[in-house]
Amino acid sequence: MTSPVEIRGEPRFRLLFERAPVAIWDEDFSGVKDFLDDLFFSGVIDIRRHLQSNPDLVGDAIRRVQVRHVNRIAREFYGADSEEDLIRALPSLFDATALQVFTDEIVALAEGATTFTAELLAITLTGERRLVQMNVSLLLAEADDWSQVVVTFTDLTERKRLEQSLELANEKLRRVNADLEQFAFAAAHDLTEPLRTISLYAQLLQKFQTERLGPAADTALASILQNTSRMRTLVGDLLTYAQMAEPADLSRCPGVDANTIAREVLLGIAGAIEEAGASVDVSCALPAVAIQAGHLRQLLQNLLVNAIKYRSPDRAVEVRLTASQSSGEAVFCVSDNGIGIGPDYQNRIFGIFNRLHGIEIEGSGIGLALCKKIIEQYNGRLWVESEEGSGSKFYFAIPSPAYIQPR
Ligand code: ADP
Repeated sequence: MTSPVEIRGEPRFRLLFERAPVAIWDEDFSGVKDFLDDLFFSGVIDIRRHLQSNPDLVGDAIRRVQVRHVNRIAREFYGADSEEDLIRALPSLFDATALQVFTDEIVALAEGATTFTAELLAITLTGERRLVQMNVSLLLAEADDWSQVVVTFTDLTERKRLEQSLELANEKLRRVNADLEQFAFAAAHDLTEPLRTISLYAQLLQKFQTERLGPAADTALASILQNTSRMRTLVGDLLTYAQMAEPADLSRCPGVDANTIAREVLLGIAGAIEEAGASVDVSCALPAVAIQAGHLRQLLQNLLVNAIKYRSPDRAVEVRLTASQSSGEAVFCVSDNGIGIGPDYQNRIFGIFNRLHGIEIEGSGIGLALCKKIIEQYNGRLWVESEEGSGSKFYFAIPSPAYIQPR
């Protein structure tokens, strides 16, 4: 059995250079250095300004770059048959926009940088324009003659194309969402007026005409009024959902004290708590959260009201609100000992108008959808853990920016 041949020294490095999986240019910039030295000696201090007012000089400087070798990937990238073909075609490989990049590169090196990175448009020998990331490194910065420079190119064209199509798709999605919200808002708004009229005339008939119309009509009118009232709640909730505006700038969202908000919410739902005879236990140290106060209020109110509303008839209602701060997010939990939710329904309840109950329990099926919409605006998470018959735990997590310190 023959042992593998070990390649050492210069041939080994030639092989590494040639077979490297990125486009590499082995170059000599000493001509550029001489060019800059001449400028300094002639009294030019502000190189950038000088080059900007004499753009031809950038071309002169770049023409002084000597390309020693290019590797296989560089030749393939440009569609060149040989190293000589590629080096010969060099002046036509960049378009006018590259001039600014070369200016920046020369200025950076003149100011003492030993590396330089930029994106630029490269033109292949077949005329194709491709976006590349160029990295320039002086290999022997200490020797200071700029004769050993390695330049690498990474083709960004495909990645940029994907990024752009993703951005386009996102933009389209944003527009469709905005249209849908606008539609929901207009529809809900336009429904309000006819509803009010129906309910007004039903009330008038109920008040003045029941004797003439008889008991059957009385029942029908009561049903009309009950349903218009329910529809008014639905339309109102739909309006709130459609109007839920995104916070202007998430990065500047001030931290709100969840304790204050929780106290306000409890005051607001005191009637419902009392009516259900519920005990609501709120953890004494809720964290600060990077969220608009109104949004946190809505989240806590919807979850606490649900925890009371979906109570079990068999036991006293016990609700708890707790929160913790961990690994860059604040996590809140509203737990109850209510009727719970079966595993098949635990995802469905977050969709708009999705309810597991009829009119025997009041509601529009929008509360959790609204919570989800709020949470998504903050890139947070909302989920439920529940066992049918034993109660539920609703969690939501809001990312904490660095300025919010854990307690
Ligand atoms: P609504 O309460 O108006 O019906 P929500 O969107 O708040 O609408 O809730 C959707 C559904 O999720 C409810 O109809 C109910 O079936 C279920 N649900 C929500 N919270 C609870 C809870 N704490 N316990 C049991 N079921 C719940």
